[in-house]
Amino acid sequence: MIGLTVLGSTGSIGVSTLDVIARHPDRFHVVALTANKDVDGLFEQCKQFQPQFAVMADPDAANQLEQRFHGARIRIEVLSGVEGLEYVASLDSVAYVMAAIVGAAGLVPTLSAARAGKKILLANKEALVVAGALFMREAAQGGAEILPIDSEHNAVFQCMPANFSQGLEQVGVSQILLTASGGPFRQLTLDQLKGVTPDQACAHPNWDMGRKISVDSATMMNKGLEVIEACWLFNTSPDQVKVVLHPQSVIHSMVAYTDGSVLAQLGNPDMRTPIAHALAWPERISSGVKPLDLFEVGRLDFEAPDFSRFACLRLAYDAINTGGTAPAILNAANEVAVASFLEGGIAFTEIPEVIESVLNGIPSVEAGELEGLLAVDAEARCYAEQMIQSRV
Ligand code: NAD
Ligand code: MG
Repeated sequence: MIGLTVLGSTGSIGVSTLDVIARHPDRFHVVALTANKDVDGLFEQCKQFQPQFAVMADPDAANQLEQRFHGARIRIEVLSGVEGLEYVASLDSVAYVMAAIVGAAGLVPTLSAARAGKKILLANKEALVVAGALFMREAAQGGAEILPIDSEHNAVFQCMPANFSQGLEQVGVSQILLTASGGPFRQLTLDQLKGVTPDQACAHPNWDMGRKISVDSATMMNKGLEVIEACWLFNTSPDQVKVVLHPQSVIHSMVAYTDGSVLAQLGNPDMRTPIAHALAWPERISSGVKPLDLFEVGRLDFEAPDFSRFACLRLAYDAINTGGTAPAILNAANEVAVASFLEGGIAFTEIPEVIESVLNGIPSVEAGELEGLLAVDAEARCYAEQMIQSRV
């Protein structure tokens, strides 16, 4: 039996992970479940999966959960805060850690799993964007194995030769082709984009996801973050990672080889496929995803992305090309801008404007250790808040 911690179990990826786990009770047992503030959600999950630990990042929520367990005579140890998350990410009884917290908040707990040499199922792309060099180094030193959950990176992983870590050139890979649906606003003009609402931004045509990543998909910052994620996961440079618009979201990404071959991974857009792949790798297990019906799909379309309407994608390429702390600044500014957009504070088209002004206002320096990166993250958040205040 494989012991598993799910960081961010009440979120979209967390719920899909538990759905797959529940199909394989002979293979996995849940050691710890974690959430930020969703007491009801975590309580219900704990009743079903009976983990040893339940962690709420928020201390008040942890108290409430403890009382709920007490009242229901459930014996599950409740922990709180980042320390609680770090603890359950590095327990000896845990072999696999699903890293599915949203945003830079996932960095420290996921790093704890890396240092402890766990098999990390990485959904939390922001951890790599903020601290790619540090994270990859700690994972290597700790003996951790990283399996990508992001559907594109999971697809790329499936299309890569087994020895890709030797270097893409050595193994004959010429390019990584990341597919992007283009989100709900793919065909809107810049003028039309100005008036879109949070609910429209969160209504993704193909995927059902948390609100932050849904807005990121609508601005295409999600694809930008994924370009950066791909550079770290596959040890390559941004000019070898190309974004291809593919509205059907059936091809999840591709790998081009020097001999002219292009390998693709296809499937219905359902995160349970990459989750099941990573959970069982190198074996295959059932995921609950319905088989792909190519006749129903009918056709596959491809377009080049428009960097002027989707400025976030350009900003992300710029940030990874600049290097150092620029991606961490980009990510922090984006998190603040997206949160403000979701609360009705700024317009959709102001998201890239805020990010760009933060990137211009804070110079990138060499990305050092964790403390320095967390300080840059905090500084960029502060700067972004100020930029937003000055607009209203
Ligand atoms: P979500 O908002 O649905 O869930 C986030 C989870 O993290 C929740 O359990 C929440 O309680 C927890 N959380 C939030 N803030 C926290 C904090 N400060 N401390 C501790 N826990 C906290 O998000 P999601 O859509 O499931 O996405 C999770 C991650 O997976 C993101 O990094 C996202 O980019 C990535 N991802 C998601 C999808 C998808 O289909 N949803 C696909 C690819 C990658
Ligand atoms: Mg993705």
